[in-house]
Amino acid sequence: MNAGPESLARSLVCIECGAAHALDYRLECAKCRGLLAVVYDLDVLRRRGPAVFTGHGLWRYAPVLPIADPAHRVSLGEGGTPLIECPRLARHFGVRRLLVKFDGANPTGTVKDRTSATAVGAALQFGFTATSVVSTGNAGSSIAAYSARAGLRAFIFAYERASAPKLLHMSATASDLVLYKGVYDDLIGLWDRLVEERLFFDCGASRNAYKQEGKKTLAWEIGEQTGWRPPDVVVAPVAVGEIFIACARGFREMHEVGFIERMPTMVAAQATRANPIARAWSDGGRLQPQKIGYTVAEGLAAGNPGRKGEWVLHLLREHGGLAGHAEDEEILAAQRLLARTEGIWAGPTGAGSLAVLARLLADKRLDPGQTIAVIVSETGLKTEAELPPRAGVAFDDESLRRLVLERLRP
Ligand SMILES: *Cc1c(COP(=O)(O)O)cnc(C)c1O
Ligand SMILES: [Zn+2]
Repeated sequence: MNAGPESLARSLVCIECGAAHALDYRLECAKCRGLLAVVYDLDVLRRRGPAVFTGHGLWRYAPVLPIADPAHRVSLGEGGTPLIECPRLARHFGVRRLLVKFDGANPTGTVKDRTSATAVGAALQFGFTATSVVSTGNAGSSIAAYSARAGLRAFIFAYERASAPKLLHMSATASDLVLYKGVYDDLIGLWDRLVEERLFFDCGASRNAYKQEGKKTLAWEIGEQTGWRPPDVVVAPVAVGEIFIACARGFREMHEVGFIERMPTMVAAQATRANPIARAWSDGGRLQPQKIGYTVAEGLAAGNPGRKGEWVLHLLREHGGLAGHAEDEEILAAQRLLARTEGIWAGPTGAGSLAVLARLLADKRLDPGQTIAVIVSETGLKTEAELPPRAGVAFDDESLRRLVLERLRP
């Protein structure tokens, strides 16, 4: 093995029945088919503190990630994204302090690079030569890039309406790009059967415990970037729920080893057009899969988040979290607001969490006297939207000066 900090991952445990399993490629509990989670021996962290973390980016947190051999820690420079203090946006909302964790700064422009690093790392760890994912765009784009980086074949099944920049990126990086019609939820059942046959490594979001771990580094980074005094509230976008589950667990691990005194309140943010978790949370009922249509927040378009969705609901209820949703128009307004007030250009999926925060504040469901962090999960540079009118003006000396002077007039 190459040099590099040791992974503290020790086993897999079923979150339903508690049965322990070896750290193998296994997608569900052998006893009850429940979801599996990686268990770590965190003693070293308790004893040595944050000094166990070395290097930069996502793999700085290798001790709390499940990839044992440093040679399998595939990287394009993901993680280590900025936690941006947003005073103008805070003033706009009347919030004491507002921070944006901008994951659009990742190599392929989205939070997905965190999970691609550990998913493709796990594919190498378990000796697979091909990966696959069904994607509305972001996951396909990211898994394709990381698979190429690792020298693996990648079967990317991408939504035919994915944005042009995402399709361009996927066709450039994927060994095998296949477009599909209809919604994600329709294809995923068929694809899962090929996973069972082990034709490729499951880089999907629904069951893979190794993949999800990468997103935990969002929480670890927020912890470290705030000097281990995390915000009171963290707003996380939720489709299938990996970000939410992983962040909640990251904060819990930090708390267990004594790095932080209390865990933030987690808010689950969904698009109204794909809001099964937010709906079940406010009804107090069970998670009901939804037939969904198009939402501008393409990365949040999951009508059937499955067992991870149920787990998000469980965590919300157990730990006193909060769930909310926002309409497409509110999401686009939040996208413009973030760009204008702080210069952060997010895609609609990325701005979804901010739109939900705006609504929760307007509805007085969140105390504005707190420090609130919003996870903005994608760049705006990969989305397509209607262009502003392209009619240009031909200037001369005089007309150019006049235009600027007129606009500068108070
Ligand atoms: C996939 C995705 C999400 C949703 O993440 P889950 O972990 O599936 O809930 C949020 N934002 C972006 C940009 C995404 O691509
Ligand atoms: Zn079980």
